[in-house]
Amino acid sequence: MAVTHSPHSPLSAASVSEARTALLKHAARDAMDYLEGEDKRSVAPRPEAVKALQVLRGPLPPGPTSAEAVLHLLDAYGSPATVAKTGGRNFGFVNGGCLPAALAASWLVSAWDQNAAFFVQSPTAIVLEEVALEWVRELLGLPTGTGGAVVTGATMANFTALAAARHTLLTRAGWDVEGEGLFGAPPVTVVVGEEVHASVLKALGLLGLGRNRVVRVPVDGQGRMRADALPHMDERTILCLQAGNVNTGAFDPAGAICPAAREAGAWIHVDGAFGLWAATSQEYRRWTNGFEQADSWATDGHKWPNIGYDCGVALVRDPDALRAAMSIQASYLALGEHREPSDYNPELSRRARGVELWAGLRSLGRSGMAEIVERTSSHARRFAEGLRAAGCQVLNDVVINQVLVSFGTPEKTLQVIARIQEEGTSWCGSTVWQGHTAMRISVSSWATTRDDVDRSLAAMLKAAKEG
Ligand SMILES: *Cc1c(COP(=O)(O)O)cnc(C)c1O
Repeated sequence: MAVTHSPHSPLSAASVSEARTALLKHAARDAMDYLEGEDKRSVAPRPEAVKALQVLRGPLPPGPTSAEAVLHLLDAYGSPATVAKTGGRNFGFVNGGCLPAALAASWLVSAWDQNAAFFVQSPTAIVLEEVALEWVRELLGLPTGTGGAVVTGATMANFTALAAARHTLLTRAGWDVEGEGLFGAPPVTVVVGEEVHASVLKALGLLGLGRNRVVRVPVDGQGRMRADALPHMDERTILCLQAGNVNTGAFDPAGAICPAAREAGAWIHVDGAFGLWAATSQEYRRWTNGFEQADSWATDGHKWPNIGYDCGVALVRDPDALRAAMSIQASYLALGEHREPSDYNPELSRRARGVELWAGLRSLGRSGMAEIVERTSSHARRFAEGLRAAGCQVLNDVVINQVLVSFGTPEKTLQVIARIQEEGTSWCGSTVWQGHTAMRISVSSWATTRDDVDRSLAAMLKAAKEG
């Protein structure tokens, strides 16, 4: 059953459509079987499965392969070598699962095959993206009138927002950075915390502001920028704050820092990839106090909100600054009145990922988002209590969903982590926190239950004992 037309065997339109329907039903069945089986398998793929990926290598065949055969290869060899991520026991990095509504929306988005660059190409994609951006702004408690872009992740969100910062500061200094680049431009100082996320530095590098050309502010034992150690700031300064440290979950004290930075005329940018979502919960909102005073924010849809990959959001208080940094003009781009995503984000042609963001948030509502924050943070505390009770050392104040734990010496900790990964009940990675080797537990998935926590905890403690 070849969906691909071959010049030697022309198919009628009806049979093409029939074959496509059969293929998509087959793919949906494979996907559902995958999801249902995930809970029973090891979180990390078995080494044999990773080895078997070899089958998918090799040169591109000279002729076509039927779509059914392609799908079969993917499911037979691809599925087993994935990391089980949508179940409740993957605590690696800061990874959400994918909400059912977001997954379903993503299937539909793929079927639609919309190009979300311009309104004329997809009114649906553009309207839903606009609505989703406004929902995110509201959920995070940010100023009305803030503009934004739906991008691929917080790295690109940092890049996008910082491009608006660069534009504004250099325009103020009489320099057209989009037109003239940075050669000969007046200098801009970028201030970051010692615990800045690597993606902010990468964004600064891409923007010509330099990964190393930053002023680093010392941090405390939780990784929070010290408000008493800030350098001189002025209207040529970009200050990058962090809401949610990727290790400890800690928040820079924005309330203590922002007023003076604003007074000095600095541009305040917030990397709040996951932490900013704490603003949706009564219980955790206090950590995000003060961040609303910033000029721009970067966050992720694919972390705490559990939208599937990839989904990040850049928000900028002054949408005109973002537009000035990102807009694109060409004679064939004769556009209407509508807000065009291509004027606000770094891409032109792009996936309609705003639709998935819309669908996920719509399914959660305000309370659903707050519940994810509260439930995962309470799971994190349960991990910390269980580990502490067994004599392990928890290295951070568990303020939200992140836990750092040491099992003793660095070697021992790494051994235990390897054993936990191999045993397969759960998955956690390693980190080095202020000189201490630790295992990092991030509870970010909507799907994690208390039973998942208890099963994982039992497996972790067993692995620790075996050492
Ligand atoms: C995850 C993370 C990033 C990078 O986000 P991506 O979506 O992976 O690009 C940046 N900053 C912080 C604090 C993060 O946790």
